Amino acid sequence: MHVHRRHARGFRQALVFSFLCAASASADEAQPKAATPTASSGTEVHWGYTDALGPEHWGDLPGATTCANGHAETPIALETKAAVPDTHVAPVFQYKPSQVHMRNNGHTVEFAYDAGSSVRVNDHEYSLAQFHFHTPSEHTEDGKRFPLELHLVHKDANGAVLVVGLFVKEGAPNRALDAAFAHLPHEPGDHVDLERGVINAAVLLPKDQTYFQYQGSLTTPPCTEGVQWYVMTKPIEMSDTQIAAFQRLPYLNPNSRSLQPLNGRTVYLHTASR
Ligand SMILES: [Zn+2]
Repeated sequence: MHVHRRHARGFRQALVFSFLCAASASADEAQPKAATPTASSGTEVHWGYTDALGPEHWGDLPGATTCANGHAETPIALETKAAVPDTHVAPVFQYKPSQVHMRNNGHTVEFAYDAGSSVRVNDHEYSLAQFHFHTPSEHTEDGKRFPLELHLVHKDANGAVLVVGLFVKEGAPNRALDAAFAHLPHEPGDHVDLERGVINAAVLLPKDQTYFQYQGSLTTPPCTEGVQWYVMTKPIEMSDTQIAAFQRLPYLNPNSRSLQPLNGRTVYLHTASR
C-alpha cells in the first residue's frame, strides 16, 4: 500500500481551522476540493464545535445568519413513530469505486469521491462529491445517539444538495474502510492519498435501505437550507478500533451540531420493499 501524505503548511491552529469568507457558500457538506484556506488572507472565518467558536455562535459569522435564524435546519431528532409512511420513489444508487483521497479540513475528514458516481431520484441525478464523518452522530434515532454518522454528499447540475446519512454502531470491522482508517490524516490541512486504495461507497450502504427523508440544511456554516436528507434507519458497523481512530483525531471530537427544532416539517419513513 502506497501512502502519500501531504502536510499543509502555515495553517495549523491550536483550536480551530478556518475557511475563506469568499468560499463561505461551501460548508462541510458541500465543500469544493479547491477551497484551500490561506493563513495570509484577511477574510478568514473561524468556527468550531466548542466554546465561543461553537454552534451556538455560528449565526454571528459573516453570511451565516441562517445558522441562528433558519427554520428548516439539520440535524433533527428522528422518531419512527412520528414519521409519515413514504410512498415516494426510492433513490437509486449508482456508485462506482473511487480512489481514496482524504483531507482533514479541521472540521472532519473528507473523502473526495471520483466523478462518475451518483444517486437518482425521480430521474434527477445527483453526483456523489464526497463523504465525511461526525462524532457523535448528528441525528438521533428514537432518542439514540450513535458513535459516528457518515454523510454522503451529492450535488445536481444546479448545485442542489442531497445528503445520505448513515449511522455507525460499534461492531464488526468495516473492511471497506480498513485501509483508509489506518491512515487517517491526523492534523488540519493534512491530505492522505492511498495510491492503490479503492473504496466503493455502495459497499458502505446498509443492506436494508429503510430510511427517513426530510428537508433540512447543511450542518456546518453557513447552514444553507434546501438540502434533501435521506437517513438510513439501520446503522452500519465499524469496529471499536476504527471508531476510536476517528475519535482520537485532534479537534474533531466532538464535531457534531446540536439538534434543531422540527418546526412543523414532515419526516417520512420509507420502508424498503422486499
Ligand atoms: Zn456532515
